[in-house]
Amino acid sequence: MIQLRPTTAHVNLETLRANFALVRAAVHPDAKILAAIKGDAYGHGAVQCAHALAGAGADCFGVALVEEGRALRRSGITQPILCLGGAGPQGAQEALAHSLTIMVSSLAEASALNDAAQRCGKQATIHLNIDTGMGRLGVPPHHWAHFLDRLADLHHVEVEGIASHLAHSEDGHGVVSTDEQLRRFSEAISIAKGRGFDAPIKHIANSGAILNHPGSSFDMVRPGLLLYGYDPAGQQPRIPVKPVMELCTKVLLVRDLPAGVGVSYGGAFVTPRPSRIATLPLGYADGYPRGMDGEAYVLIHGHKAPLRGRICMDLCMVDVTNVPVVVRPGDDVVLLGCQGTESIDAWDLARWADTIPYAVLTGLSERIPRRS
Ligand SMILES: *Cc1c(COP(=O)(O)O)cnc(C)c1O
Repeated sequence: MIQLRPTTAHVNLETLRANFALVRAAVHPDAKILAAIKGDAYGHGAVQCAHALAGAGADCFGVALVEEGRALRRSGITQPILCLGGAGPQGAQEALAHSLTIMVSSLAEASALNDAAQRCGKQATIHLNIDTGMGRLGVPPHHWAHFLDRLADLHHVEVEGIASHLAHSEDGHGVVSTDEQLRRFSEAISIAKGRGFDAPIKHIANSGAILNHPGSSFDMVRPGLLLYGYDPAGQQPRIPVKPVMELCTKVLLVRDLPAGVGVSYGGAFVTPRPSRIATLPLGYADGYPRGMDGEAYVLIHGHKAPLRGRICMDLCMVDVTNVPVVVRPGDDVVLLGCQGTESIDAWDLARWADTIPYAVLTGLSERIPRRS
């Protein structure tokens, strides 16, 4: 399809592979790596990222939904795919049909998979999720032993893994500390072992744990954000990954406005002086965050051009009065990435919009083509 609008997300698969290699080198050599590619690979395009990461040596992929796993299977991914959010009340049969591994948080989920597996003459491969302090999914610790005893009666599920998820791995200080979550996890593993569940793949470490808790690797680690080039705490990451995505467009229109003119809806910005305003062809329907503060800018000719007025659905305006080069329609604009000596990353956008890079990256809409 011909692309009529210049707004594009460039996904550098070489950088993604290099980031993977850096993570590979940083974790225990015996630990497998599950690459988290839910949310369309954090907005980077799940199919292209999965194939790049498979080539780089990813052992396994993590998705949220059965639908996401199915799409990867249809694209030819043969590695194990773990549905981190379970199969849902409707998903058991489809998960089995596509050989997806399912994270299980309750006996009801395990039973549904067991029944579906029995019907189609298969074994369902599952990972047991224990809640060590996230309060989201997972078997509560006080139910763990009882859960395992009941699970022993289900003959069509095979327990391949035991997993948990950390709530504060980027800083370690929450209601329950990361150390305490790791201790509870080890205890749950011992209890399972004592009941004959010697699952070969135990895993708890996300990006924050890989960076800050090197002892948390167990048999597998589950990086997401780190692979796409960011530290979840917004620091310069200890592992020197680089952002994988750049977001670019071109100037649509340039106008010279006198002082005292309102720019965009609501009159939130009025030109304080004669101003050269460039209109850009992207807006909040593209997932460009609407609620950014007065610090936000884009790059044009290697200079910062501040956003002015409210971001519209399909357009936004920037002030190019101080750009020392004459700005013309068609000039390149960088919204995420480097230009000259300046750069903008997803943490900058996240801070301007009072959100997190996860939300910025996954929020970029399907309307923006992902080019690799
Ligand atoms: C998304 C997710 C991850 C990856 O998290 P990052 O912070 O991006 O590394 C790991 N484990 C589970 C269960 C997840 O849902």
